[in-house]
Amino acid sequence: MASNTSKVIDKGEGRFINVDKFSRQVEAVKQRTETLTRQVSQSRGQQPNLLSEAFEELNTALEELQVAEEELRAQNEELAVAHNLIECERLRYQELFEFAPDGYLVTDTNGNIQEANRVATIMLNIPKHFLQGKPLVNFIPEEDRRVFRSQLLRLQEIDRIPDWEIDMQPRKRMKFHASLSVMAVYDHQQNSVGWRWLLRDITARKQAEEQLRLMQLQNLQLQETSRVKSHFLALMSHELRTPMNAILGFAQILSRQPCHQVSSQSKTMVERIINNGKNLLTLIEDILDFSRLEAGKLNITPEEFNLEELVTATTEDLRSLAQQKHLFFDVHIELENPIIINDRDRIRQILVNLISNAIKFTDIGSLTVKVQEVDQDRIAVIVSDTGIGIAETDLKNIFKEFRQVNESITRKYGGTGLGLAIVDQLLGLMKGTISVKSEIGCGSTFRVELPRKC
Ligand code: ADP
Repeated sequence: MASNTSKVIDKGEGRFINVDKFSRQVEAVKQRTETLTRQVSQSRGQQPNLLSEAFEELNTALEELQVAEEELRAQNEELAVAHNLIECERLRYQELFEFAPDGYLVTDTNGNIQEANRVATIMLNIPKHFLQGKPLVNFIPEEDRRVFRSQLLRLQEIDRIPDWEIDMQPRKRMKFHASLSVMAVYDHQQNSVGWRWLLRDITARKQAEEQLRLMQLQNLQLQETSRVKSHFLALMSHELRTPMNAILGFAQILSRQPCHQVSSQSKTMVERIINNGKNLLTLIEDILDFSRLEAGKLNITPEEFNLEELVTATTEDLRSLAQQKHLFFDVHIELENPIIINDRDRIRQILVNLISNAIKFTDIGSLTVKVQEVDQDRIAVIVSDTGIGIAETDLKNIFKEFRQVNESITRKYGGTGLGLAIVDQLLGLMKGTISVKSEIGCGSTFRVELPRKC
């Protein structure tokens, strides 16, 4: 029995046995045996049955010991199973550590490397066995080492540093931007025994951040340039508009003079002044509108009005221009309900722009304006002509500011390339759309869709 008990302990698994409980049992048996032996020797001859009673007691005690031993055995087996499980878990974590997608290192509290996983060895470009025992500071570029050491000192107090960005210098390779996260490792008595390091190569992220920063800077510069440009344009336009209105005013007074006071030659010249002055004024208005739109300072002022009346009046105003070029000018308004809520003046501006372009870029043939309901909430205004048309490659550019199809067209037909850009932006504000279909030499069709209520 005694040999059995010692066998259990001698297996080297003593750490699994509840030794205290077992020792208490042995102690109890010992005390009982001593008591019995004492009683036997004191009452020798007086009580003949005492010896047999004593041995019976001893037997009982030994049986109890046997039970205790069995309990220990069972406990030992359970502990061995638990030990195996823990070992499996340890191996699993070892594998996770080894094959983690990031670099992991363990150092002592002086920063000497004790363990490194596969990715860390790749990042530092050095085999694992050469890494062991090396100070981590060896992989920090010289110029950053002072900072690194002072952070190591700081770690003694704060026990963790998350996302510490620093350059790292692998062996025989270019340095890279790294993000380090460090945590203290404690022993079972809560003494700090080292540091656990998570290493990430953030070079790509840093490059992207730098690019983004440059782009944001450029964007700010562009915004500033655009703001200055808009301010300049608005100021210039205003300065030009005032004298131009005066010139036009005086020219109109001159044109109303009775025939006998002004020669027909002078009258023609005055008419030219008025026409060119009006063109210049339109241009100035366009520039003003455009700079306001760019600065976000142009607002839509919705009001209820009759779209049919507006289209009829606008087309009638422009009809004489079409007639001067001998163009047929058809207008079809097919609205069941012509009342809409939108910015009347801005819709007129859109119509004038599209119709004057149609007249301007058409030398022979006709132009048509069609207004119809798309559905209950939207109305389409379609302006088509049989003019010079626009090449497919140019279509995407015509709504950009100051864009014209080409120089020869500009020379022949004039213009600034602002009209469609303004139309497009105005429609954007009204939650409307504009699209165009065109073929060189066959004409163009511009289709505007407006919300009935904006
Ligand atoms: P502008 O007419 O002052 O040049 P727009 O912005 O109104 O400026 O038009 C931009 C360009 O789109 C014009 O220069 C012209 O090349 C082209 N374009 C616009 N409307 C028509 C059209 N109806 N037919 C042919 N080309 C057109």
